[in-house]
Amino acid sequence: MSMNLVTLLYLLASVCFIQALKGLSHPTTSIRGNLFGMAGMTIAVLTTAALIVKLAGGHAGGFGLVLAGLVVGGGAGAVMAQRVEMTKMPELVAFMHSMIGLAAVCIAVAAVAEPHALGIAQPGEPLPGGNRVELAIGCFIGAVTFSGSVIAFGKLSGKYRFRLFQGAPVVFRGQHLLNLVLGLAALVFIVGFWHTQSWVDFLLVAALGFALGVLLIIPIGGADMPVVVSMLNSYSGWAAAGIGFSLNNSMLIIAGSLVGSSGAILSYIMCKAMNRSFFNVILGGFGAEPGAAAATAVQRNVRSGSADDAAFILGNAESVIIVPGYGLAVARAQHAVKELAQKLTAKGVQVRYAIHPVAGRMPGHMNVLLAEAEVPYDQVHEMEDINPEFGQTDVAIILGANDVVNPAALQKGTPIYGMPILEAYKARTVIVNKRSMAAGYAGLDNELFYMDKTMMVFGDAKKVVEDMVKAVE
Ligand code: NDP
Repeated sequence: MSMNLVTLLYLLASVCFIQALKGLSHPTTSIRGNLFGMAGMTIAVLTTAALIVKLAGGHAGGFGLVLAGLVVGGGAGAVMAQRVEMTKMPELVAFMHSMIGLAAVCIAVAAVAEPHALGIAQPGEPLPGGNRVELAIGCFIGAVTFSGSVIAFGKLSGKYRFRLFQGAPVVFRGQHLLNLVLGLAALVFIVGFWHTQSWVDFLLVAALGFALGVLLIIPIGGADMPVVVSMLNSYSGWAAAGIGFSLNNSMLIIAGSLVGSSGAILSYIMCKAMNRSFFNVILGGFGAEPGAAAATAVQRNVRSGSADDAAFILGNAESVIIVPGYGLAVARAQHAVKELAQKLTAKGVQVRYAIHPVAGRMPGHMNVLLAEAEVPYDQVHEMEDINPEFGQTDVAIILGANDVVNPAALQKGTPIYGMPILEAYKARTVIVNKRSMAAGYAGLDNELFYMDKTMMVFGDAKKVVEDMVKAVE
């Protein structure tokens, strides 16, 4: 395989990745986007495998290793993708980012140890200065991504007792100063490595990266995790791009830059959706006031009703807005919800869905869920479009959502102050389905549940909605 053909195939794969990103920007084109992504990745992997075999000079051992890598990596990916539940996707994404970060570190170590094997330097020659800087920076970002993603994985899964894996932020005095000092120290050792190509400097850069990854993520808690996941996504892309420069691999540079920039843009969009500054989020502290939830967690009365009562109210409404949240995904109630909406529409009720950008546990979670049930896209509305409609709507029905409709976000001093919410509290009647009075992801009580116009319908979302479907006349 000639290098011209390799470049051409990499270019083709890059075009596929760009088309994939374009397609994934809207539910109607997302399947096409995924197909482009799969095609691009297949071309990139096969071309790289062929290139490695060529570089190994047709050595049988080289081909065997590439094949083993493809089988083990591809097999593990296929099994994990098949087994993962939709609600566990963010953890899987965090795990994958950690692997990309670790891969960047391993490649950088290999390149420093044997630069001639990767065609970066002639045997016996030192690494060129530019490559030293690229490798040190790539290794540093990779190390930050690895350890940061491991912490994010633990926090998102919420099932480990280890303190650093708890959702609650870990904060201590002088934390930001310590991070700054470690960041500056890494810079000093990067310069040192550029100057001397000493292993000590290089390993210190890696060690500082691993430490900073942990320290940067532990103070970030609760509701800010989505931004963290997308930020780590961005880091993993930049780490890959940095290593791509050293290896002179255009595919790594392009794919890494696409991941890096799209992750950064997504982080920005999410920060905007939460009305927060990016630096405020990544420096931690949001959701860090542990006393806030406890202060309001006193026994209070709510008005509750049955699925039949809710069905009666819904059936007599002229307009209904359905607000899906994380609990809907847990209960897998999307098909039942679609059936309910169909029955109401058949009765002449106007039914719309309201989507909050961070509802659920991953960006676009609710869109994916509703698309799976083949809910018509014209009924699905983003937060900015639907919020002005709540005031003129008869019933807002909240299914397994909590934080995204919590009016605490409007009150100064609360941990989620400033996060835009779906204004369900403005509807004439509010129906809330959840299993108990437990708090949502941010750990806060929700005033909406105690309003006079609110009726709580307790129970698993799937069972409750199925009962509503039966009860709608
Ligand atoms: P929340 O986590 O705030 O609330 C979900 C509610 O669903 C809970 O209060 C729970 O109450 C209820 N619930 C759970 N299981 C069921 C069930 N089987 N049937 C009925 N109800 C159920 O979810 P939201 O979607 O409102 O908000 C998302 C939160 O997650 C935000 O704080 C966001 O920042 C955060 N987040 C978002 C990510 C993203 O990318 N979208 C990623 C990570 C975090 P009960 O236990 O009483 O049933």
